[in-house]
Amino acid sequence: ERLDDENNIRRIITKSDDDGDNINVVVRVRPLNDKEKRGSDKCVIQFPGNGQLLVDNTGGSGSGQKPKLFSYNVVFEPAAIQEDILQFSGMKRLIEMSVEGYRCTCFCYGQTGSGKTHTLTGPPGLFGLRPSSYSDEHGLIFRSFLYLFQLIKQKSDVHFILKASYLEIYNEKVIDLLNPGSARKPLAVRWSKKARGFFVENLFTVDCEELDDLIAVLEEGLRNRAVGRHNMNDYSSRSHTILTVYISSEQPAENGVFLSRSGKINFVDLAGSEMTKKTQSEGKTLEEANNINKSLMVLGYCISSLSDQKRKNSHIPYRDSKLTKLLADSLAGNGVTLMIACISPAKFNINETINTLRYAARAKKIRTKPVVLMDPREALILSLKREVTVLQNENEHL
Ligand code: ADP
Ligand code: MG
Repeated sequence: ERLDDENNIRRIITKSDDDGDNINVVVRVRPLNDKEKRGSDKCVIQFPGNGQLLVDNTGGSGSGQKPKLFSYNVVFEPAAIQEDILQFSGMKRLIEMSVEGYRCTCFCYGQTGSGKTHTLTGPPGLFGLRPSSYSDEHGLIFRSFLYLFQLIKQKSDVHFILKASYLEIYNEKVIDLLNPGSARKPLAVRWSKKARGFFVENLFTVDCEELDDLIAVLEEGLRNRAVGRHNMNDYSSRSHTILTVYISSEQPAENGVFLSRSGKINFVDLAGSEMTKKTQSEGKTLEEANNINKSLMVLGYCISSLSDQKRKNSHIPYRDSKLTKLLADSLAGNGVTLMIACISPAKFNINETINTLRYAARAKKIRTKPVVLMDPREALILSLKREVTVLQNENEHL
């Protein structure tokens, strides 16, 4: 049982003193599950503190492997609860920055069964999510929505427009989770000159005036994701989902000019990290082998190239997969990124765990320089348009 005093929080969540110029990388270790306990599997992770993790596989067997020490911004031990992830992962800062016009991304990485979906959405079957009835089990997306609305309500002088979309990438095909018909007709990813970024053509974006509207998007997407997939139980291991909240705002500035900003937050639930290897081996059809986790592989290449300081100006292969096209602005360093690496504590999973921890350590080296995209000329035009509308309205009333 968890006690709610400060010391206890410090014990199950430890932080390093790293500066904020890099991608923020945190690790969540899930508890041993019942099956692992019954099979008397044991926990191979130790927690020395300061955002560090020790993977110790030396116990008894005399395998000769040395314990491995890893270091991150924050480490969440198995006793950490869902609300801890919102409070201590840096997610709140991400939400604050998205409201100020930054493009933010939170992604969960890890092998199948490590707790990615649990962390982002919560356990399966949490439908009927309503703010009044939310439980301790609701995940980070839901909690972020609550915090986002809290922030927006505080800024009464700013006019906000919120929209949301929810998509899935499976076999390099983009499916709109808010429009199930798109499963038969995948959407195209295109480059927008104006927005200087990639976007998904014809993706539903739903206006979200109220918190309930955002929650409805999450629910609808989860429901559509579950439909018709029961004959493929590893579907969720192979697919990536991205829920995006678009936050545009107008704030009156001097001379009747409005400052307009558009930030966003992506919540990304990645395919199981073990899929990278499965893509390369096993008897997959050619199309599958090429596609299943091209996105995950290319994400790995992008992270490696970005984190390698010596190859400063080397080519980053964003364009090689759907996922990396859509995450390019976050990874390239002018957005703000939080990576949550999810791992199992069990000895049985130790190889995948070490792979995930190495991957996360690489991502931690990526340096960032977030910028707000704001076009002053556009802001001026917008305020002039407003004036015209006001004048027209006045005319009509004369
Ligand atoms: P993934 O999405 O990475 O494949 P899941 O989130 O589906 O993994 O987690 C696998 C199982 O473990 C689920 O039954 C989930 O409820 C459980 N689980 C994961 N993380 C935790 C946690 N921190 N506390 C309790 N149960 C967890
Ligand atoms: Mg999952």
